[in-house]
Amino acid sequence: QVPRPTKDLDAPFFTTCQEPDVTAERENAVLVMLARNSERQKAKRTIRSIEAHFNKWFEYPVLFLNDQPWDARFIAELNKTAGGRGIFEVIPKEQWTFPDWIDQDAAKESIIAQGHAGAPHAGKEGYHHMCRFYSGCKGGLVNLLIIKSRKFYQLEALRKYKWYWRLEPDVDFTCAVTYDPFVQMAKHKKVYGYTIALWEVGKSCPGLFHATTAWKTLKGLPSSSLWSAMMEASWMPFPFRSLLSWLPHRDASGDVWSLCHFWSNFEIADMDFFRSRAYQDYFEYLDRKGGFYQERWGDAAVHSLAIGMLADPQQVHHFEDIGYRHAKFYQCPANALGGQLPNSLSLAKNKPWSPEIAGGIGCRCECDGKKGSNFQPYCLDRLKQPNSPKKGRL
Ligand code: GDP
Ligand code: MN
Repeated sequence: QVPRPTKDLDAPFFTTCQEPDVTAERENAVLVMLARNSERQKAKRTIRSIEAHFNKWFEYPVLFLNDQPWDARFIAELNKTAGGRGIFEVIPKEQWTFPDWIDQDAAKESIIAQGHAGAPHAGKEGYHHMCRFYSGCKGGLVNLLIIKSRKFYQLEALRKYKWYWRLEPDVDFTCAVTYDPFVQMAKHKKVYGYTIALWEVGKSCPGLFHATTAWKTLKGLPSSSLWSAMMEASWMPFPFRSLLSWLPHRDASGDVWSLCHFWSNFEIADMDFFRSRAYQDYFEYLDRKGGFYQERWGDAAVHSLAIGMLADPQQVHHFEDIGYRHAKFYQCPANALGGQLPNSLSLAKNKPWSPEIAGGIGCRCECDGKKGSNFQPYCLDRLKQPNSPKKGRL
Protein backbone atom coordinates (compact mmCIF):
# COMPACT_ATOMS: atom_id res chain seq x y z
CA GLN A 1 0.00 0.00 0.00
CA VAL A 2 1.37 3.39 -1.03
CA PRO A 3 1.33 5.98 1.78
CA ARG A 4 -1.78 8.16 1.71
CA PRO A 5 -1.62 11.96 1.60
CA THR A 6 -2.50 12.30 5.25
CA LYS A 7 -1.49 15.02 7.65
CA ASP A 8 1.55 12.96 8.70
CA LEU A 9 3.04 13.49 5.29
CA ASP A 10 2.30 17.17 5.23
CA ALA A 11 2.60 19.06 8.49
CA PRO A 12 2.27 22.87 8.53
CA PHE A 13 5.67 24.54 8.19
CA PHE A 14 5.03 26.62 11.33
CA THR A 15 2.26 26.68 13.88
CA THR A 16 2.75 30.14 15.37
CA CYS A 17 3.78 33.59 14.14
CA GLN A 18 7.43 33.94 13.29
CA GLU A 19 9.66 36.97 13.50
CA PRO A 20 9.95 37.50 9.72
CA ASP A 21 13.56 36.84 8.83
CA VAL A 22 14.05 39.69 6.41
CA THR A 23 17.76 39.01 6.07
CA ALA A 24 17.45 35.35 5.08
CA GLU A 25 18.29 34.32 1.56
CA ARG A 26 15.28 34.28 -0.77
CA GLU A 27 14.36 31.63 -3.29
CA ASN A 28 14.34 32.36 -6.99
CA ALA A 29 10.66 33.23 -6.99
CA VAL A 30 8.08 35.66 -8.32
CA LEU A 31 4.46 36.54 -7.58
CA VAL A 32 2.41 36.37 -10.79
CA MET A 33 -0.93 37.90 -11.63
CA LEU A 34 -2.73 37.60 -14.94
CA ALA A 35 -5.23 40.42 -15.22
CA ARG A 36 -7.13 42.75 -17.49
CA ASN A 37 -6.89 46.53 -17.44
CA SER A 38 -10.53 46.58 -16.36
CA GLU A 39 -9.59 44.68 -13.18
CA ARG A 40 -7.41 47.47 -11.81
CA GLN A 41 -9.31 47.95 -8.56
CA LYS A 42 -9.63 44.23 -7.88
CA ALA A 43 -5.96 43.72 -8.69
CA LYS A 44 -5.08 46.45 -6.24
CA ARG A 45 -7.11 44.77 -3.55
CA THR A 46 -5.09 41.59 -3.96
CA ILE A 47 -1.71 43.30 -4.07
CA ARG A 48 -2.50 45.54 -1.14
CA SER A 49 -3.46 42.45 0.82
CA ILE A 50 -0.43 40.32 -0.02
CA GLU A 51 1.91 43.24 0.59
CA ALA A 52 0.40 43.87 4.04
CA HIS A 53 0.40 40.21 5.06
CA PHE A 54 3.55 38.92 3.46
CA ASN A 55 5.47 40.78 0.83
CA LYS A 56 6.32 43.93 2.76
CA TRP A 57 8.77 41.70 4.61
CA PHE A 58 9.96 39.42 1.84
CA GLU A 59 9.87 41.81 -1.11
CA TYR A 60 9.47 39.41 -4.00
CA PRO A 61 8.91 40.92 -7.46
CA VAL A 62 5.34 40.96 -8.76
CA LEU A 63 4.88 40.07 -12.42
CA PHE A 64 1.67 41.26 -14.10
CA LEU A 65 0.63 39.53 -17.32
CA ASN A 66 -1.98 40.65 -19.82
CA ASP A 67 -2.97 39.65 -23.33
CA GLN A 68 -3.55 43.36 -24.11
CA PRO A 69 -1.15 46.29 -23.69
CA TRP A 70 -1.27 47.63 -20.14
CA ASP A 71 -2.93 50.96 -19.43
CA ALA A 72 -0.50 53.54 -18.06
CA ARG A 73 -2.82 53.95 -15.10
CA PHE A 74 -2.79 50.24 -14.26
CA ILE A 75 0.98 50.21 -14.36
CA ALA A 76 1.39 53.32 -12.25
CA GLU A 77 -1.10 52.34 -9.57
CA LEU A 78 -0.21 48.68 -9.32
CA ASN A 79 3.50 49.33 -9.31
CA LYS A 80 3.01 51.69 -6.42
CA THR A 81 0.84 49.17 -4.56
CA ALA A 82 3.48 46.50 -5.16
CA GLY A 83 6.11 48.65 -3.48
CA GLY A 84 7.77 49.52 -6.78
CA ARG A 85 8.48 45.86 -7.47
CA GLY A 86 5.98 45.49 -10.31
CA ILE A 87 6.96 44.04 -13.68
CA PHE A 88 4.45 44.47 -16.51
CA GLU A 89 4.47 42.15 -19.49
CA VAL A 90 2.23 41.52 -22.46
CA ILE A 91 1.69 37.92 -23.52
CA PRO A 92 2.79 37.37 -27.13
CA LYS A 93 -0.26 37.16 -29.46
CA GLU A 94 0.51 33.66 -30.67
CA GLN A 95 0.26 32.35 -27.13
CA TRP A 96 -3.21 33.71 -26.59
CA THR A 97 -5.09 32.25 -29.48
CA PHE A 98 -6.26 28.98 -30.96
CA PRO A 99 -3.58 26.45 -31.84
CA ASP A 100 -2.84 26.37 -35.59
CA TRP A 101 -4.30 22.95 -36.18
CA ILE A 102 -7.73 23.56 -34.67
CA ASP A 103 -10.80 24.39 -36.77
CA GLN A 104 -11.44 27.90 -35.44
CA ASP A 105 -14.99 28.21 -36.80
CA ALA A 106 -15.97 24.95 -35.14
CA ALA A 107 -14.23 25.99 -31.93
CA LYS A 108 -15.99 29.36 -31.86
CA GLU A 109 -19.35 27.72 -32.48
CA SER A 110 -18.68 25.28 -29.69
CA ILE A 111 -17.78 28.13 -27.33
CA ILE A 112 -21.10 29.83 -28.07
CA ALA A 113 -22.95 26.56 -27.47
CA GLN A 114 -21.06 26.01 -24.20
CA GLY A 115 -22.07 29.50 -23.13
CA HIS A 116 -25.70 28.54 -23.57
CA ALA A 117 -25.17 25.27 -21.71
CA GLY A 118 -24.01 27.33 -18.75
CA ALA A 119 -20.66 26.04 -17.44
CA PRO A 120 -18.97 29.00 -15.71
CA HIS A 121 -17.26 31.37 -18.22
CA ALA A 122 -17.52 28.69 -20.92
CA GLY A 123 -19.05 31.14 -23.42
CA LYS A 124 -16.06 33.49 -23.36
CA GLU A 125 -13.34 32.84 -25.90
CA GLY A 126 -10.75 34.66 -23.75
CA TYR A 127 -11.44 32.36 -20.83
CA HIS A 128 -10.62 29.31 -22.96
CA HIS A 129 -7.37 30.93 -24.06
CA MET A 130 -6.62 31.73 -20.43
CA CYS A 131 -7.16 28.13 -19.29
CA ARG A 132 -5.00 26.80 -22.11
CA PHE A 133 -2.36 29.43 -21.41
CA TYR A 134 -2.13 28.60 -17.70
CA SER A 135 -2.16 24.90 -18.45
CA GLY A 136 1.05 25.26 -20.37
CA CYS A 137 0.36 26.94 -23.67
CA LYS A 138 2.50 26.21 -26.67
CA GLY A 139 2.12 28.17 -29.86
CA GLY A 140 1.06 25.33 -32.13
CA LEU A 141 3.04 24.98 -35.34
CA VAL A 142 4.91 28.22 -34.76
CA ASN A 143 6.41 26.53 -31.77
CA LEU A 144 8.16 23.96 -33.91
CA LEU A 145 9.80 26.66 -35.98
CA ILE A 146 10.77 29.23 -33.38
CA ILE A 147 12.45 27.21 -30.63
CA LYS A 148 10.49 25.92 -27.71
CA SER A 149 10.04 29.14 -25.85
CA ARG A 150 6.34 29.73 -26.16
CA LYS A 151 4.97 27.88 -23.15
CA PHE A 152 3.58 29.73 -20.18
CA TYR A 153 6.17 28.34 -17.81
CA GLN A 154 8.88 29.30 -20.25
CA LEU A 155 7.59 32.75 -21.04
CA GLU A 156 10.59 35.00 -21.35
CA ALA A 157 9.48 36.97 -18.30
CA LEU A 158 9.06 33.82 -16.18
CA ARG A 159 11.95 31.77 -17.42
CA LYS A 160 14.50 32.99 -14.96
CA TYR A 161 12.37 32.01 -11.97
CA LYS A 162 11.94 28.59 -10.44
CA TRP A 163 9.02 29.29 -8.08
CA TYR A 164 5.82 31.19 -8.54
CA TRP A 165 2.96 32.27 -6.33
CA ARG A 166 -0.10 32.73 -8.47
CA LEU A 167 -2.37 35.64 -7.62
CA GLU A 168 -5.67 36.76 -9.04
CA PRO A 169 -7.59 40.01 -8.88
CA ASP A 170 -10.11 40.16 -6.04
CA VAL A 171 -8.33 38.09 -3.41
CA ASP A 172 -7.99 38.70 0.32
CA PHE A 173 -5.15 37.26 2.36
CA THR A 174 -6.42 37.27 5.90
CA CYS A 175 -3.51 36.00 8.00
CA ALA A 176 0.06 37.17 8.39
CA VAL A 177 2.49 34.94 6.51
CA THR A 178 5.60 35.54 8.59
CA TYR A 179 7.85 32.99 6.94
CA ASP A 180 8.97 32.51 3.37
CA PRO A 181 6.81 29.78 1.77
CA PHE A 182 9.20 29.37 -1.15
CA VAL A 183 12.10 28.66 1.19
CA GLN A 184 10.01 26.21 3.18
CA MET A 185 8.75 24.43 0.10
CA ALA A 186 12.28 24.05 -1.20
CA LYS A 187 13.48 22.84 2.18
CA HIS A 188 10.71 20.25 2.45
CA LYS A 189 10.99 19.16 -1.20
CA LYS A 190 7.49 20.30 -2.11
CA VAL A 191 6.50 21.06 -5.66
CA TYR A 192 2.91 22.21 -5.30
CA GLY A 193 1.08 24.17 -2.60
CA TYR A 194 -2.62 25.00 -2.36
CA THR A 195 -5.18 26.42 0.04
CA ILE A 196 -8.60 25.29 -1.19
CA ALA A 197 -9.78 22.16 -2.98
CA LEU A 198 -13.18 22.21 -4.67
CA TRP A 199 -15.37 20.14 -6.94
CA GLU A 200 -14.90 21.00 -10.59
CA VAL A 201 -18.09 21.69 -12.56
CA GLY A 202 -18.73 18.43 -14.40
CA LYS A 203 -20.06 19.90 -17.61
CA SER A 204 -16.92 21.97 -18.17
CA CYS A 205 -14.87 18.83 -18.79
CA PRO A 206 -16.80 15.67 -19.67
CA GLY A 207 -13.88 14.34 -21.75
CA LEU A 208 -10.95 15.40 -19.60
CA PHE A 209 -10.72 12.31 -17.45
CA HIS A 210 -10.92 9.98 -20.43
CA ALA A 211 -8.13 11.86 -22.15
CA THR A 212 -6.10 11.83 -18.94
CA THR A 213 -6.42 8.12 -18.28
CA ALA A 214 -5.67 7.43 -21.95
CA TRP A 215 -2.44 9.38 -21.61
CA LYS A 216 -1.64 7.72 -18.31
CA THR A 217 -2.10 4.29 -19.85
CA LEU A 218 -0.05 5.30 -22.89
CA LYS A 219 2.81 6.27 -20.61
CA GLY A 220 2.41 3.22 -18.40
CA LEU A 221 2.35 5.36 -15.28
CA PRO A 222 2.01 3.57 -11.95
CA SER A 223 -0.82 4.33 -9.57
CA SER A 224 -0.31 7.11 -7.07
CA SER A 225 -2.10 7.41 -3.78
CA LEU A 226 -2.91 11.05 -4.34
CA TRP A 227 -4.50 10.11 -7.61
CA SER A 228 -6.67 7.51 -5.91
CA ALA A 229 -7.63 10.06 -3.28
CA MET A 230 -9.01 12.24 -6.05
CA MET A 231 -10.85 9.27 -7.43
CA GLU A 232 -12.37 7.87 -4.30
CA ALA A 233 -14.18 10.97 -3.15
CA SER A 234 -16.69 10.43 -5.93
CA TRP A 235 -19.20 8.76 -3.67
CA MET A 236 -19.48 11.72 -1.38
CA PRO A 237 -23.08 12.92 -1.33
CA PHE A 238 -23.26 16.48 -2.48
CA PRO A 239 -26.51 18.13 -3.42
CA PHE A 240 -25.28 19.82 -6.58
CA ARG A 241 -23.60 16.83 -8.10
CA SER A 242 -26.06 14.74 -9.97
CA LEU A 243 -25.40 11.24 -11.20
CA LEU A 244 -24.96 12.71 -14.65
CA SER A 245 -22.18 14.98 -13.58
CA TRP A 246 -19.89 12.17 -12.55
CA LEU A 247 -20.75 9.52 -15.07
CA PRO A 248 -18.58 10.99 -17.85
CA HIS A 249 -15.62 10.82 -15.50
CA ARG A 250 -15.62 7.06 -15.34
CA ASP A 251 -12.86 5.38 -17.31
CA ALA A 252 -12.64 2.01 -19.03
CA SER A 253 -11.54 0.21 -15.88
CA GLY A 254 -14.43 1.63 -13.89
CA ASP A 255 -12.46 4.25 -12.00
CA VAL A 256 -14.10 7.58 -11.44
CA TRP A 257 -12.64 11.03 -11.04
CA SER A 258 -14.51 12.71 -8.26
CA LEU A 259 -13.97 16.15 -9.85
CA CYS A 260 -12.05 17.13 -6.73
CA HIS A 261 -9.28 19.55 -7.71
CA PHE A 262 -6.91 22.12 -6.29
CA TRP A 263 -8.30 25.60 -6.84
CA SER A 264 -5.49 27.01 -8.91
CA ASN A 265 -6.13 30.72 -8.45
CA PHE A 266 -3.95 30.17 -5.38
CA GLU A 267 -0.89 28.19 -6.26
CA ILE A 268 2.64 28.21 -4.94
CA ALA A 269 4.54 25.90 -7.19
CA ASP A 270 7.87 24.81 -8.54
CA MET A 271 7.62 25.71 -12.22
CA ASP A 272 10.14 23.02 -13.04
CA PHE A 273 7.33 20.56 -12.40
CA PHE A 274 5.30 22.15 -15.18
CA ARG A 275 8.36 22.47 -17.36
CA SER A 276 9.14 18.79 -17.01
CA ARG A 277 8.91 16.58 -20.07
CA ALA A 278 6.17 14.50 -18.51
CA TYR A 279 3.93 17.48 -17.78
CA GLN A 280 4.57 19.09 -21.14
CA ASP A 281 3.81 15.82 -22.85
CA TYR A 282 0.55 15.56 -20.91
CA PHE A 283 -0.39 19.11 -21.85
CA GLU A 284 0.44 18.53 -25.49
CA TYR A 285 -1.68 15.39 -25.50
CA LEU A 286 -4.64 17.23 -23.99
CA ASP A 287 -4.18 20.15 -26.35
CA ARG A 288 -4.35 17.83 -29.36
CA LYS A 289 -7.64 16.46 -28.04
CA GLY A 290 -9.10 19.95 -28.47
CA GLY A 291 -10.82 20.00 -25.10
CA PHE A 292 -9.60 23.46 -24.18
CA TYR A 293 -12.04 24.68 -26.85
CA GLN A 294 -14.54 21.90 -27.59
CA GLU A 295 -15.04 21.77 -23.84
CA ARG A 296 -13.85 24.21 -21.19
CA TRP A 297 -11.03 22.30 -19.54
CA GLY A 298 -9.71 24.42 -16.70
CA ASP A 299 -6.09 24.81 -15.72
CA ALA A 300 -7.06 23.91 -12.16
CA ALA A 301 -8.34 20.48 -13.15
CA VAL A 302 -5.42 19.90 -15.53
CA HIS A 303 -2.83 20.88 -12.91
CA SER A 304 -4.56 18.75 -10.27
CA LEU A 305 -4.77 15.62 -12.40
CA ALA A 306 -1.12 16.07 -13.36
CA ILE A 307 -0.04 16.51 -9.75
CA GLY A 308 -2.11 13.45 -8.83
CA MET A 309 -0.38 11.38 -11.48
CA LEU A 310 3.15 12.76 -11.46
CA ALA A 311 3.92 14.03 -7.95
CA ASP A 312 4.29 12.12 -4.71
CA PRO A 313 1.74 13.01 -2.04
CA GLN A 314 4.65 14.21 0.12
CA GLN A 315 5.49 16.80 -2.51
CA VAL A 316 2.11 18.49 -2.18
CA HIS A 317 1.55 21.04 0.57
CA HIS A 318 -1.70 22.30 1.96
CA PHE A 319 -1.14 25.84 3.27
CA GLU A 320 -3.73 25.45 6.00
CA ASP A 321 -2.24 28.39 7.88
CA ILE A 322 -2.85 30.87 5.05
CA GLY A 323 -6.13 32.77 5.21
CA TYR A 324 -7.43 33.11 1.69
CA ARG A 325 -10.59 34.34 0.01
CA HIS A 326 -11.50 34.50 -3.67
CA ALA A 327 -15.07 34.79 -4.95
CA LYS A 328 -17.26 33.26 -2.26
CA PHE A 329 -14.82 30.58 -1.23
CA TYR A 330 -12.39 30.96 1.59
CA GLN A 331 -10.09 29.26 4.02
CA CYS A 332 -9.99 30.79 7.47
CA PRO A 333 -7.56 29.21 9.94
CA ALA A 334 -8.08 29.53 13.67
CA ASN A 335 -5.33 31.55 15.30
CA ALA A 336 -2.60 29.86 17.29
CA LEU A 337 -2.76 30.44 21.05
CA GLY A 338 -0.70 33.49 21.96
CA GLY A 339 0.75 33.60 18.50
CA GLN A 340 0.99 37.36 18.30
CA LEU A 341 3.31 39.05 15.90
CA PRO A 342 6.29 40.71 17.46
CA ASN A 343 5.28 44.33 18.08
CA SER A 344 7.96 45.67 15.83
CA LEU A 345 6.26 44.05 12.88
CA SER A 346 2.61 44.32 13.81
CA LEU A 347 0.03 44.79 11.12
CA ALA A 348 -1.90 48.01 10.83
CA LYS A 349 -5.13 46.24 11.58
CA ASN A 350 -4.82 44.63 14.98
CA LYS A 351 -8.00 42.64 15.31
CA PRO A 352 -7.78 38.88 15.40
CA TRP A 353 -11.33 37.84 14.48
CA SER A 354 -10.49 34.21 14.08
CA PRO A 355 -10.61 32.58 17.51
CA GLU A 356 -7.41 31.61 19.28
CA ILE A 357 -7.60 27.92 20.03
CA ALA A 358 -5.28 25.12 21.04
CA GLY A 359 -4.17 23.56 17.78
CA GLY A 360 -4.85 26.77 15.84
CA ILE A 361 -2.06 27.59 13.42
CA GLY A 362 -3.05 30.95 11.92
CA CYS A 363 -1.06 34.09 12.61
CA ARG A 364 -3.21 37.15 13.21
CA CYS A 365 -6.02 35.86 11.03
CA GLU A 366 -8.60 38.57 10.48
CA CYS A 367 -11.29 36.37 9.00
CA ASP A 368 -14.38 35.07 10.75
CA GLY A 369 -13.30 31.64 11.90
CA LYS A 370 -16.69 30.95 13.42
CA LYS A 371 -17.96 29.96 10.01
CA GLY A 372 -15.38 27.21 9.83
CA SER A 373 -12.64 26.88 7.26
CA ASN A 374 -13.78 23.85 5.42
CA PHE A 375 -17.29 23.90 4.05
CA GLN A 376 -19.05 20.68 3.28
CA PRO A 377 -18.99 21.33 -0.47
CA TYR A 378 -15.19 21.55 -0.38
CA CYS A 379 -13.33 18.33 -1.05
CA LEU A 380 -10.28 19.18 1.03
CA ASP A 381 -10.90 16.56 3.71
CA ARG A 382 -11.08 13.87 1.10
CA LEU A 383 -7.65 14.78 -0.20
CA LYS A 384 -6.06 15.11 3.20
CA GLN A 385 -7.76 12.32 5.04
CA PRO A 386 -9.14 10.01 2.44
CA ASN A 387 -10.50 7.36 4.76
CA SER A 388 -13.58 6.33 2.89
CA PRO A 389 -13.80 2.57 2.42
CA LYS A 390 -14.70 3.13 -1.25
CA LYS A 391 -11.41 3.62 -2.97
CA GLY A 392 -10.78 4.39 -6.59
CA ARG A 393 -8.04 2.32 -8.15
CA LEU A 394 -5.96 3.06 -11.14
P1 GDP B 1 -12.62 32.65 -12.27
O1 GDP B 1 -11.82 33.05 -11.08
O2 GDP B 1 -12.28 31.28 -12.78
O3 GDP B 1 -14.08 32.83 -12.06
O4 GDP B 1 -12.26 33.58 -13.52
P2 GDP B 1 -11.57 35.01 -13.65
O5 GDP B 1 -12.45 35.89 -14.45
O6 GDP B 1 -11.13 35.51 -12.30
O7 GDP B 1 -10.30 34.66 -14.54
C1 GDP B 1 -9.20 33.95 -14.03
C2 GDP B 1 -7.91 34.72 -14.25
O8 GDP B 1 -7.68 34.88 -15.64
C3 GDP B 1 -7.91 36.12 -13.68
O9 GDP B 1 -6.59 36.40 -13.26
C4 GDP B 1 -8.30 36.99 -14.86
O10 GDP B 1 -7.77 38.27 -14.74
C5 GDP B 1 -7.65 36.23 -15.98
N1 GDP B 1 -8.35 36.34 -17.27
C6 GDP B 1 -9.47 35.70 -17.69
N2 GDP B 1 -9.81 36.04 -18.94
C7 GDP B 1 -8.86 36.94 -19.34
C8 GDP B 1 -8.63 37.69 -20.56
O11 GDP B 1 -9.37 37.58 -21.53
N3 GDP B 1 -7.53 38.52 -20.56
C9 GDP B 1 -6.68 38.63 -19.49
N4 GDP B 1 -5.64 39.47 -19.58
N5 GDP B 1 -6.88 37.96 -18.37
C10 GDP B 1 -7.93 37.11 -18.28
MN1 MN C 1 -10.99 34.71 -10.44
